[in-house]
Amino acid sequence: MWTLIVCSIVKLVVQVKLLPTPQQAAALEATLDAVNRAANLVAALAFQRRCFRNFDLRRHAYDQVKAEFGLAAQAAQHVIKKVCDAYRTLHANLAGGNLGRPGSPRRVKAEAKPVSFRPLAAQPYDDRCLSWQHEARTVSIWTTGGRLKGVAFTGSEEHLALLAAHRRGESDLVCRDGMWFLHATIEVPDVPAAAPEGFLGVDLGIADIATTSDGVRRSGKGLNAVRHRHRALRRRLQAKATKSAKRLLKRRRRKEARFAADTNHVIAKQIVTEAERTGRGIALEDLQGIRERVRLRKPQRVTLHGWSFHQLGGFIDYKAARAGVAVIYVDPSYTSQQCSQCGHVDRRNRPDQATFSCTSCGFAEHADVNAARNIASRGETGWAVSHAA
Ligand SMILES: [Zn+2]
Repeated sequence: MWTLIVCSIVKLVVQVKLLPTPQQAAALEATLDAVNRAANLVAALAFQRRCFRNFDLRRHAYDQVKAEFGLAAQAAQHVIKKVCDAYRTLHANLAGGNLGRPGSPRRVKAEAKPVSFRPLAAQPYDDRCLSWQHEARTVSIWTTGGRLKGVAFTGSEEHLALLAAHRRGESDLVCRDGMWFLHATIEVPDVPAAAPEGFLGVDLGIADIATTSDGVRRSGKGLNAVRHRHRALRRRLQAKATKSAKRLLKRRRRKEARFAADTNHVIAKQIVTEAERTGRGIALEDLQGIRERVRLRKPQRVTLHGWSFHQLGGFIDYKAARAGVAVIYVDPSYTSQQCSQCGHVDRRNRPDQATFSCTSCGFAEHADVNAARNIASRGETGWAVSHAA
């Protein structure tokens, strides 16, 4: 068994919505257009010269993009860095085999041309080209047409408070569906976790998204129904393939992702609140293990991959860190086949998806609850082992 304890700084991204006047919006749009044309030029240069390192690329491209596109020094540097990052991602994907084997059509296509950026692709801003006036709820932001002052922004009270207290580093300027946003990074120091009195085990699944060792099950029924509805609509729209259908499709996809994120937030919050209230830590299965462990028929697999376990785990992780609740990750093997009473492991302990019934001691329980109890006790053992010294 192995364990991993959470780190001590929590990084989050907070989104605020900008409320630019029509003139301000036009200046922002012209700016994104310019930086992305510049990025495409740098990407082509990098591709031509097979030069993908920030430092080298700056030598080749910096003066040209500054002069040709009217960019400020920082903006030019961000453009070059953005291109390097895009190539690094591409190369990692190629190395990881995510675009197929060498020689496969998809891979050949990806390797044959420079990376490219949409006219309104997001652009990073640092503190020299973007400043925040939290009291007035405005930002001052560099554009190709000069510095825009007093651009209003809005967001949830919780986010605005976090932003004012903990914002650090870069923010991305993002345009989506004709709306403008800033994605700002914040760093929240976590409360040192108190020594937990026992662990709340959490089993992540499909029929039930999250089941705790206390026996609380969060059903995925409503969610899965929404997903199926969306998928049916998606298929109809895809068949149409018109421009407006494509646009609608894109909007639906975002709506679905937002819905999933909202649900994950709610579930994560309930779990963390319960652990905090009872002085326990939280034990989760190793997230990497989940996809490997679950082998399913195809229709279900779509749901699983669409559903973001990773996101739910991440939400639990940072909410727990902020509340000073310890989180421990445990080895996920056989949590569903092991008896949480006597420890007996047998595939036949699971006569069907929902039932656990021990062939050795006769203990019976809902299968997910039994698994969550195993996760909880592995968390306890793991904590004891890692804190023995
Ligand atoms: Zn048993």
